[in-house]
This record gives sequence, structure tokens and C-alpha cells, in this order.
Amino acid sequence: MGGQLNAGGRLVVATHNKGKLAEMADLLRPYGLDCVSAGSLGVAEPDETGTTFEANAALKARHTATATRLPALADDSGICVTALDGDPGVFTANWAGPRRDFARAMRMVEAALDGAKDRSAKFVSVLALAWPDGDVELFRGEVEGTLVWPPRGTRGFGYDPVFVPAGHSVTFGEMDPALKHTMSHRAVAFAKFKAACLDGLR
Ligand code: IMP
Repeated sequence: MGGQLNAGGRLVVATHNKGKLAEMADLLRPYGLDCVSAGSLGVAEPDETGTTFEANAALKARHTATATRLPALADDSGICVTALDGDPGVFTANWAGPRRDFARAMRMVEAALDGAKDRSAKFVSVLALAWPDGDVELFRGEVEGTLVWPPRGTRGFGYDPVFVPAGHSVTFGEMDPALKHTMSHRAVAFAKFKAACLDGLR
């Protein structure tokens, strides 16, 4: 179980989410891999039928690795709000509806909070690296923070404009993406993935 990716080797990024794709491409750029997106290879997105971030990340990565016969990296992520018992959690994308309207999703979270004093939340990212033989490795990252209202900033994607990471005063939507990449849930998961699978490359 487990393995290292090779310099110049192909890696399929198993996401159709443009925001995630951009962040994963930024994080992978220094390693000289030949990264391609699942969409560009014509691989459809599987239904996310799992009940955990780990299960959904694994099923997305495995689906793409099996279809392409190449290693595939998937991210399953979301925001867990303390006062909402961890919701929207694995359903974070669903709260944006079929048209993926994140202004609506952020309004729904604010409405669900209904004036709650506890505005703490965390972003979670689970990265799954799947090999063509079906083996999967999982890496989890989290970042704690606070929800603000109204949304602030136009950078990033998804719920970034309402999330202020702990120890900072700006939202991920206001932050330079390079700074977000030093602390985000995805960056924390990526550091674990790098240690396990990319260390030979740098
Ligand atoms: P899924 O992993 O495809 O189920 O979607 C996760 C959803 O979580 C995304 O569509 C975003 O709305 C949200 N999300 C995950 N990571 C981030 C992030 O870094 N910033 C803002 N929203 C995020």
C-alpha cells in the first residue's frame, strides 16, 4: 500500500470544481508532475454517495484512476459549523443547489445560525490519491475559524467570503491566494500528501 509519484509522471486531478482545480494546480505546480484534469480526459463525476469526507474523496479518486488507468488525486471538502452540529459538512456543495449558487448557500448558513452567539466553524479537506490498481491513500486537513456576515472579498471560491481563519482578520475571500495556501485545510492535507507521495520530487 502507498507509493511515490514520479517526476514528469501523469497525475489526474479528479475534480470538476474550477476553484478546487485552480488551488490544486497551484499546490502541485512545484513538483514537475504532468497534471491533467478529469474533465479534460472526459471522465464524468461520480455521485457522492458517501457519508464522510473520506468516503467521498476515495470514491471520486478511485473512479477516475480506474477510468484513466492513471494515479488520480481527489478532494472532498466542506465547512462544518459548530452551532449547526457540523452542518453543512459533507453536504456543503448541496446547500448551493443545482446551480451551485454560493451566495445562496452562504445566506442559508447565516439564516440557519439564526443569531447564534457561537460563530465558530472549520473547513475540512480530505485528499485521496488512488492508484489504478484500486489502492487509495487518504490525507485530512482542517482549519478553524469564525463566520462573518455579510460576505467580504471576491477572491477564492465557495464559502471563502464568510470565513475568517483563526488568528487573522480578513476572510479567505479577501486574502491573497498565496497566503491562503499556507494555512488552508487543503494546504494542511496537501502537506501530508506531499510527505507521503511527493518527497522524492523536491
Ligand atoms: P465537494 O467536495 O465537491 O462536495 O464540495 C465541497 C464544497 O465545499 C465546495 O463546493 C465549496 O463550496 C466548499 N469548499 C471546500 N473548500 C473550500 C474552500 O477552500 N473555500 C471555500 N469553500 C470551500
